Amino acid sequence: MENARNTADAIVVGGGSVGLHTAASLYEKMGKNTRILATTQESEWGGIAGRSLEQYRMFNDSYALAEIVGKGIDTYRRLDEELRERGVSEHAYENFPYIFTVGDKQRPEHIRDILPATTPERPDMSYYQKLRLDTESWGFNPGAEIVGSDELRQRYPLLDGNGIDSAMIVHNAGRLHFDVMKSWLMDRSRTDGDGTGVQYRARKVARRILLDKGGRAIGVDFGDEKIYSDTIVLAIGAFALKLPDILPGDESERIAGNFTITQRELFFAQTPGVQDTNFFLISPDMAIARLSTREGHASYGYAADDDPVIDSPTTDPRPNDSFVDDLQIDRKSLFVGRTYSLFAECSSRWDADAYDANRSNLAVEPFGHSAGYYSAYRDDLPVVGPIGDTGVILAAGSHHSGIMGGQGIAELVIDHALGQNNLSEITHQQTDINRVPVKHTGLVL
Ligand SMILES: Cc1cc2nc3c(=O)[nH]c(=O)nc-3n(C[C@H](O)[C@H](O)[C@H](O)COP(=O)(O)OP(=O)(O)OC[C@H]3O[C@@H](n4cnc5c(N)ncnc54)[C@H](O)[C@@H]3O)c2cc1C
Repeated sequence: MENARNTADAIVVGGGSVGLHTAASLYEKMGKNTRILATTQESEWGGIAGRSLEQYRMFNDSYALAEIVGKGIDTYRRLDEELRERGVSEHAYENFPYIFTVGDKQRPEHIRDILPATTPERPDMSYYQKLRLDTESWGFNPGAEIVGSDELRQRYPLLDGNGIDSAMIVHNAGRLHFDVMKSWLMDRSRTDGDGTGVQYRARKVARRILLDKGGRAIGVDFGDEKIYSDTIVLAIGAFALKLPDILPGDESERIAGNFTITQRELFFAQTPGVQDTNFFLISPDMAIARLSTREGHASYGYAADDDPVIDSPTTDPRPNDSFVDDLQIDRKSLFVGRTYSLFAECSSRWDADAYDANRSNLAVEPFGHSAGYYSAYRDDLPVVGPIGDTGVILAAGSHHSGIMGGQGIAELVIDHALGQNNLSEITHQQTDINRVPVKHTGLVL
């Protein structure tokens, strides 16, 4: 027998960026008297975002991504203002430029092995220029400018060596502190005394979608209880690979079969000897470094793609920061080494004394690392829409943009669930769950 306790106006499964934005936005749009249940299987909310450094940029390679990210940036700016007004945080949203440099350095063999197939072979200025012109022609402002080496040297004295002949500087970029944003998103939508709002329940696994005789979804079986609702959203990240377990059928098999799951690894390493500055650098060989005055010097890089085949994603494949096996040591040393040599090669301001070439790179202690599973559809774009005739809405495939894009994806869900038009027709087409995905090579940082 159904009663108020086992019904909800909407159920959102998955507590990552997409699920959190979706639950909070559904509540905002459905009205203050509604009750929404949001569940995640871990004890902590945030999904893989809890373990990654969250960058954003308004510099994209598809219309859909530009529109989706634009929604995200607007929302984070708004949340940031609220957080400042309340004195909760001054730093949840930071703006600083991304610098995509172009030069004559070849991408070393080992980097080529590590970079995924989704990254262009060796981005040159025409590639970045196309992204800039495309983004502008779609009506979005990346705040991008091209500068030559002299100008670059003047503005960023650190980048004053050989191997860099021009750069695309993207000003509409920066970083989000998702942990702060996440807590605020949850607080402002949480259930109040009368039971309306979003009820966030951790350690609650959705095991099966309940269907009526006509194959239409009517609720979710969580094992210990069944909750009924007309509106069910699966924001399950990399677990989209396991969609047929929760909703068996050909359609689920087809959708899951189009996902690839990529494990990436992020880590931070001390880079003493480099001048304080605040920008995000993407070098010609795709070494990536962020230097900031506030957090100490940091760099990050990607994991090797020889990781085990990923068919059983977990949200956090490396739950312990101190977890280091031999393979990991190799990866860390590789990227710490790359970042060191990048700066050493490109800057006469590099403090050689602070870097001892005779010391093993392993002597540079990483002070943390992060890992997670990207879930990418074959064309790198999100997948949002009802699964077959069940009415269950899938919101997955956020790939490398789920923090920037969480809000935009949530608004796509709302369009599907409530018949609204928050996003354009073209974004709907490009993210349609029934589209035929064509392999695409996009910008991945
Ligand atoms: C190293 C790294 C760096 C990144 N950097 C950036 C960046 O700079 N900018 C950016 O925008 N994005 C970045 N990303 C990508 C971004 O983190 C992801 O796109 C985003 O976090 C994915 O969010 P999601 O909600 O789709 O999935 P997830 O965060 O994976 O969340 C899915 C959730 O669903 C839960 N779940 C699954 N099945 C069930 C079930 N049956 N019952 C209950 N719960 C379930 C999972 O446990 C998980 O909590 C990065 C990712 C990585 C790995």
